[in-house]
Amino acid sequence: MDNFEFHHKSTQSNDYINVIEKHKNELEEFKKYANYLTEKAGKATKNSQKASSYMRSLVRLIIGYETLYGDNIDTLHSFDTYKKLMKITEIERFKEFNKNTNHFYSATFGCFLSYLTYLNSENEEMVDLELNKNTPDKEKSDLIINEEIGSKSIKRKEKRLIQNTYFYPRNYKESLEAKKKSNWVCEFDKSHKTFINESDGKPHVEAHHLIPMAAQGLYENSIDFSGNIICLCPTCHRRIHHSINEDKKVMLKYFYNKRRNIYKKMDIDIDVNELYKMYGILK
Ligand SMILES: [Zn+2]
Ligand SMILES: [Zn+2]
Repeated sequence: MDNFEFHHKSTQSNDYINVIEKHKNELEEFKKYANYLTEKAGKATKNSQKASSYMRSLVRLIIGYETLYGDNIDTLHSFDTYKKLMKITEIERFKEFNKNTNHFYSATFGCFLSYLTYLNSENEEMVDLELNKNTPDKEKSDLIINEEIGSKSIKRKEKRLIQNTYFYPRNYKESLEAKKKSNWVCEFDKSHKTFINESDGKPHVEAHHLIPMAAQGLYENSIDFSGNIICLCPTCHRRIHHSINEDKKVMLKYFYNKRRNIYKKMDIDIDVNELYKMYGILK
C-alpha cells in the first residue's frame, strides 16, 4: 500500500484504459451530469473541460483504490463505491496530493456524491409525493409504513421492490410527528398561508426530508426520522427542490443549523457542504 504514488496517471496507461472500458456507460453518464452541473454553476459558459477533468479524476481514484486495497470496483452507481473511494481521503499522502491539485479531487468526490443522489432522486421523490397525498396510489402506498417512533438511531430499512424499481419505505408516523412539531405552519416562514386540508382538517404543510431519501444509501442508520423532516408550504417545498442555487443554499443552511445537533444524536454524520452536494450545488 505504501508504494502507490498519487500522480496524474496517464490516460494512455493500461490501468486507465481498463477502467474506462469496464465502466464506459456509467462514466459517460457521470460526465454528462458533471457537465450539466458545471454549466449551471458557471453562469452559462460552456464548461465541458471541467466535466472531463472530473471524469478523469474519478478514474484515477478508482485505479488508486483498486491498487491500494486490492479490491475491485464493480459499479459506479452505488453509495458503497463512494464510501470505498472515500477511504483514500484518509491517507496522508493523498491529502498532500489533493492539496497540490487545488483540491480538485475533493471537488470530484463532491460531484460524485451529487451524481449518486441525483440518480435516486426521481424515484424517491415519487414516494415523498405519496407521503404527502391524501389518496395514495395503491402500489406505492405499500411503501408507506406505520411504526412506533423512537428517539434513538435505528438501522435503515431495506429497499422494497415495486414495479421493477427499488425504493426506501417511509414511516408515516415520523412525518406526522414532524408536522406536529411544526404546528402545521411552514418552517421556513411561519407567515406563509396555505389552506385547510380536507383529509385532516389541518393547515396543509408538506413533509420534506432535509437529507434526501435519495441519499439514504450513504448511511447505515435511517434518515427517515422526524428530526430530518421539515414541513413546508407548497411554494417553499417546490423552492427547496427547484430554485436557483443561491436560494437553495439559504434554505439548506438555515435548516441544517437548526437540525445539526439532532443529526449528531441520531448518529448521522453530515456537514452543510455535503448537504449542498446532495442538492446539486458544487460550492
Ligand atoms: Zn421534497
Ligand atoms: Zn413557506
